[in-house]
Amino acid sequence: MKLNHIGIAVKSIEERLKIWRDIFGFRVEVIEEVPEQKVRVAILESGALTIELLEPVATDSTIHRFIDRKGEGLHHLSFEVDDIEQKIEEYKKKNVKMIDDVPRKGAHGFRIAFIHPTSTGSVLIEISQKEEKN
Ligand code: ZN
Repeated sequence: MKLNHIGIAVKSIEERLKIWRDIFGFRVEVIEEVPEQKVRVAILESGALTIELLEPVATDSTIHRFIDRKGEGLHHLSFEVDDIEQKIEEYKKKNVKMIDDVPRKGAHGFRIAFIHPTSTGSVLIEISQKEEKN
């Protein structure tokens, strides 16, 4: 599997860019809202590593609940796959608990699905597939 990005929950993207962009030197690829997940997402690139900063835009956002419970910090690892539907079926057959049985829309033209942390020793894993451009 290939690591696509690391997702980090933040209260304010602007606030956290002070370290990720200004100190660590990450380039801001895009900042966009993903209404389906009630988050703003900043995609940061270093060349070797992609970081996704996730900022809630509503109190019923899962990211808002995450920050309430655990505070800001590491949220998920995202692995890139070629066929997300096939992976979901494969994992379910192998008794891996999925949060998403059907892929949802992620940031930056990706479709994503989350694996339940109870199946992974409390690490939230996202699988992601770049959407075909027709
Ligand atoms: Zn992600």
